[in-house]
Amino acid sequence: MSSIAIHPAVDSGFRATDAAFTGGTLVCNCASNPVKVRIKGDIAHNHACGCTKCWKPEGAVFSIVAVVPTASVEVLENGDKLAVVDSAALIQRHACKECGVHMYGPVEREHPFQGLSFIHPERFQESGWAKPTFAAFVSSIIESGFDPAKMDMIRAQLKASGLEPYDCLSPALMDYIATWTAKKSGVLAA
Ligand SMILES: [Zn+2]
Ligand SMILES: [Zn+2]
Repeated sequence: MSSIAIHPAVDSGFRATDAAFTGGTLVCNCASNPVKVRIKGDIAHNHACGCTKCWKPEGAVFSIVAVVPTASVEVLENGDKLAVVDSAALIQRHACKECGVHMYGPVEREHPFQGLSFIHPERFQESGWAKPTFAAFVSSIIESGFDPAKMDMIRAQLKASGLEPYDCLSPALMDYIATWTAKKSGVLAA
């Protein structure tokens, strides 16, 4: 049975996680004058994402994406090459205009994720970042043209790769969003 190209970082097996990973530098795909973005500190909630908005490497069905505090994001070099992909979107994805790689995506409007930025840890020039632990928005890959008849197969492959498949975010993140919403409406004490 031929397997599906989920994502190179998943399909090749993960590099060992370094418990002491303290961040690093994200680099875009440009051969010259690449955009460099420093991330101070570790990443959280690393996961595979099947949505149509996240940046994916060539041939991959899923992206690999994690969150960091926006305060920990610093553009180091060639920031003039960055442009926001969709300014109406919740996540303000800053992409390199030349190679298309999304370098960081802050959430700035009032939302449970306000103050966080989404990044693609595979762009770290350093190794040792925490591996992805679940797959979000799995059903959404159909919106990118993935064969709906192969969904059982890809869910099985994700589970075999250690990525529990969900059709929204993980329970931990869905609970986080719901808790924020309940505190905002007052049904839970803030
Ligand atoms: Zn680039
Ligand atoms: Zn996504």
